Amino acid sequence: MKLFKENESDATDNSVKNTDYTIKTEGLNKTYTVGNEKLNVLKNVNFEVKKGEFVAILGPSGSGKSTLMNIIGCMDVADSGKYYLDGIPIHEQKEKSLNSIRNTKIGFIFQNYHLVPTYTIVQNVIMPLLMRGISYNDAVKMSMDTINMLGLSDRIKHKPHELSGGQKQRVAIARALVGDPSLLLADEPTGALDRESGKEVLKLFNKLNEMGNTIVMITHDHHVAEHAQRIVNIIDGNLTVN
Ligand code: ADP
Ligand code: MG
Repeated sequence: MKLFKENESDATDNSVKNTDYTIKTEGLNKTYTVGNEKLNVLKNVNFEVKKGEFVAILGPSGSGKSTLMNIIGCMDVADSGKYYLDGIPIHEQKEKSLNSIRNTKIGFIFQNYHLVPTYTIVQNVIMPLLMRGISYNDAVKMSMDTINMLGLSDRIKHKPHELSGGQKQRVAIARALVGDPSLLLADEPTGALDRESGKEVLKLFNKLNEMGNTIVMITHDHHVAEHAQRIVNIIDGNLTVN
């Protein structure tokens, strides 16, 4: 489902016309105020990801990675600056359209999987489709190829607690993929996994990228980041492109 016709959303802004970019930010700033103290968490962040790229954002704890992920993921907004996702000016959207942009354009993968423990595997995977108003039976049909590709077909009636960490992350990846998003956004996707399962998840990311998926992966671990095609560093809210 397309939310806007290409380039229709802001005909007056030339930078919107470049849809080779899945992500394009210009001068993003984000400040938190804690008591009397102002914390500049993101400082003039210019970040670009072309369609089909696999990019890692690498930085130590507290450097602003999750803050940036929340903004890229349309879960939070910057104080100033511009953010275009698939050419859509996110910085100009109202909250309601942000919700639908998030649901259709982004597949999220988190360190701790964020699965619903009382749901079966298939119920977890189809959630983004149900949120779009697709019927249960259609959603299951639409998800089967992805479930098979991720080797989960013999687990669909299980609950998350019956799976290993690596399997749980594969469920989360299936859930991120079923809606055919423009962007897979992963925050420390291997952070809770043992080495072997972590490696498998990263190999899977490489495979998904080869299939044409655009991936942004956030990590503090340079061994993990090195699986991406390109690494950008974030230190103390400053993003530097190598
Ligand atoms: P990372 O994900 O790289 O560890 P974060 O983006 O979570 O970094 O945090 C960056 C900085 O912003 C940290 O100093 C953190 O304490 C601060 N911070 C994050 N969220 C908030 C918030 N909601 N209120 C105040 N400070 C915050
Ligand atoms: Mg974080």
